Amino acid sequence: MSKSILTDDYIHCFWCGRFAEAEHHIFFGTALRKISEKFGFKVPLCNRCHNLDKDSVHLDPKRVKDLELKRACQAKFEETHSHEEFMNIIGRNYI
Ligand SMILES: [Zn+2]
Ligand SMILES: [Zn+2]
Repeated sequence: MSKSILTDDYIHCFWCGRFAEAEHHIFFGTALRKISEKFGFKVPLCNRCHNLDKDSVHLDPKRVKDLELKRACQAKFEETHSHEEFMNIIGRNYI
């Protein structure tokens, strides 16, 4: 399993700091989940932030947490890789 590029702390929820209960793949869906796994585009989340609360990553229709995590992930990746490389992998700009 790859490590997250966004955190070394797998004990706490990346969003709120409660105990983490799930590993969230930041870019999800059939093909993107594999890419997230390969590149470490994932974060530990508590269940409430992940998929329990109405404004959780997977349930919020406004996608506040989802888009913020994607933006943070792209920014982190582009600290060590080019923007072109990110676009080749994900195909969409979030910043
Ligand atoms: Zn949380
Ligand atoms: Zn998830």
